[in-house]
Amino acid sequence: MARVFSGIQPSGELHIGNYLGAVQNWVKLQSQHDCLFSVVDLHAITQAYEVATLPHRTLEMAVGLLAAGLDPARCILFVQSHVPEHTELNWLLNTVTPLGELERQTQFKDKAQRQESVPAGLLNYPVLQAADVLLYVATLVPVGEDQLQHLELMREIARRWNARFGTGGGFQFPEPQALLSTAKRVLGLDGHAKMSKSLGNTISLFDPPETIWGKLRPAATDPARVTRKDPGNPDICNIFTIHQGFSPPDTQTQVAHNCRTAGWGCLDCKRVLADNMIATLGPIRERAQELRSHPERVREVLRSGAAKARTIARGTMAEVRRRMGFLDAEER
Ligand code: SF4
Repeated sequence: MARVFSGIQPSGELHIGNYLGAVQNWVKLQSQHDCLFSVVDLHAITQAYEVATLPHRTLEMAVGLLAAGLDPARCILFVQSHVPEHTELNWLLNTVTPLGELERQTQFKDKAQRQESVPAGLLNYPVLQAADVLLYVATLVPVGEDQLQHLELMREIARRWNARFGTGGGFQFPEPQALLSTAKRVLGLDGHAKMSKSLGNTISLFDPPETIWGKLRPAATDPARVTRKDPGNPDICNIFTIHQGFSPPDTQTQVAHNCRTAGWGCLDCKRVLADNMIATLGPIRERAQELRSHPERVREVLRSGAAKARTIARGTMAEVRRRMGFLDAEER
């Protein structure tokens, strides 16, 4: 069975963009592969963040993932900083990572140009990602297209480490492959920007029915539909993309037809979507409420997940340390 690793930052709110773009797929993958999923708090500190709220946001992300369907009996769910081997391997991999490759990463350039002073952690973010995956010798990484450049760098880091330290048979890092998401990317409700809590354009996985409808009503659609009689193009409408995540195939066909023929108005279309979203998200919201009232259960899942992850991580690090020539602290 192939091993899969993926992580999500503790943003404090699991929204439908995260759900359709990643988490829904994780729930499927846990039945098909040997999966590790992590709340990557060490990645979250590479940008300005609120120290006081980080523990709550981390726990809340775990609640969201469990409520959305991750099952600790079928996958390992843990918090990244609870397995210190991530940072150790990160440092060791830094020594084989070419600086030029880090500086060429599009995400680094985008984020760096918005900051007056750029922390080294932002530059080294993809090295920590490589450590996350290689620590578990995972071979598959579920990613969106925007992460492919980081994955290619991860493969380059693995090759470089293998060439320098993995010769002579035995242990080598695998070169992880992308498990490209087939889901179309959901935009924010403004129809332009990425869905993001900081932009205020999200629908949370835990929004109650009236909030879902309140947010969908004014959401952007195909601007060609100025009046109810104007036909539209569902392929360029974010509401249709969300339908593809929540509505059954026959409804999607009907939505596309009614849109192209002006058979209904955008509000009719959104009402059908709202009903389908409420049907899917209602049980998730209820599970989250139940988990929030028993935080000790969530903490226990994370403790047990970190213990399982650490067992694998320790095995990898023993090999890595030995091959890199470090004196074994236990040997007499
Ligand atoms: S009818 Fe539906 S798919 Fe078409 S533009 Fe309006 S909201 Fe979008």
